[in-house]
Amino acid sequence: MSKKILLEKASIPGIKTYEVYRQNGGYASVEKALKSMTPDEVVEEVKASGLRGRGGAGFPTGLKWSFIDKKSGKPRHLVCNADESEPGTFKDRFLMEYIPHLLIEGMITSSYALEANLSYIYIRGEYMWVYKILERAIKEAYAAGWLGKNILGTGYNLDLYVHCGGGAYICGEETALIESLEGKRGNPRIKPPFPAVSGLWSNPTVVNNVESIAAVPWIVNNTGAEYAKIGIGRSTGTKLISASGHIKNPGVYEIELGLSVDEFMNSDEYLGGMIDERPLKAFVPGGSSVPVLPANLIYKTANGEDRLMTYESLSDGGFATGSMLGSGGFIVYNDTACIVRNTWNFSRFYHHESCGQCSPCREGTGWLEKVLHRIENGHGREEDIDLLWSIQSKIEGNTICPLGDAAAWPVAAAIRHFRDEFEYHVRFPEKIKNRDHFVNEPFEKVRHLVGKQTV
Ligand code: SF4
Repeated sequence: MSKKILLEKASIPGIKTYEVYRQNGGYASVEKALKSMTPDEVVEEVKASGLRGRGGAGFPTGLKWSFIDKKSGKPRHLVCNADESEPGTFKDRFLMEYIPHLLIEGMITSSYALEANLSYIYIRGEYMWVYKILERAIKEAYAAGWLGKNILGTGYNLDLYVHCGGGAYICGEETALIESLEGKRGNPRIKPPFPAVSGLWSNPTVVNNVESIAAVPWIVNNTGAEYAKIGIGRSTGTKLISASGHIKNPGVYEIELGLSVDEFMNSDEYLGGMIDERPLKAFVPGGSSVPVLPANLIYKTANGEDRLMTYESLSDGGFATGSMLGSGGFIVYNDTACIVRNTWNFSRFYHHESCGQCSPCREGTGWLEKVLHRIENGHGREEDIDLLWSIQSKIEGNTICPLGDAAAWPVAAAIRHFRDEFEYHVRFPEKIKNRDHFVNEPFEKVRHLVGKQTV
């Protein structure tokens, strides 16, 4: 059984309300930090914990905090990135919906560490009901004296607002989020300068994911050293995973980093194995933007080691044989899933969400979608597979923000590991048009068929 840090109290009846949250030890980290620690001591605890950003990039949170410019004399801000929009990822929503005061508590303690007096939670527009839950929780926290002027009589002031986005995926990129928060179109900025130097209204700003901020109360209450004992190697602590696809028990799970993928996939405590006992074909460990892996690379790395739920193990072998932990959006496919259709679906999303500032992303995502659409609908040409490869390779690394990479990686991985499915699509257009592929013909049979034709 994995240790619970974030969801430990989530099942307590009424935990959404301030009274119940407080009765169960809530806001203890604020008391401890404000009354007995300096802001820099809080930063040091978070550094010692080894906590890494849970939004996808995995950058060390304490290190990010230490970059904030405290000497310029400008106001500082903490902005919580709750613009959770990655297909396959819904763990932040769960946390904010069921235990909103944990995020508020984390925001206060983290804002104190950064010496920020004005902070924001930027939530995606589609989470309107969660926005209302957070608004109510913030009001309760103000009423109880945890927000506002002279908190706990310590002289520390903090105002906290929740801001609803307009529904653009790109606003999950931190500089686009800041632009949007300033009331402008959510276009990513060219970096440097980084937000820690010039962020919201040109003030030093830290942008952190919901899950990262929610881990701070436990770290302050129990020390960073205790947090670092959970997990394995540089993957410390716990991680929320949102699991979906052809599994028996989809949902949100809190796991200790270091759990084996095999145990997570197949034990009744977690996903419970494949639905209808059909064969496992592929999985995406970290949301739609990370590479898909085939069945033979799921439980073991290319070196034959057990694949673990850690940043390092999931990316073992680079993109040739690995993927990424990413945002923890764990999507599982059985043998009836069509990888081409899935890849087209993802590409459609990225094309729609591209902000259009840079040509490789604006034009490239459109071409990826167009070529995948014709392959998936039985109009593909043999040369289309190489064309797809060429397009994605020209997007990766050539754009202002990571959305370009996020659009390119799934296409590259799909071709790398499932090229025979693409070939099947272009060689047997009638089957594709009749939509009887993969539903009636499991993957292995298709693989065999393509093999024969190749000979
Ligand atoms: Fe916009 Fe795409 Fe360029 Fe990012 S990579 S700035 S989303 S066009």
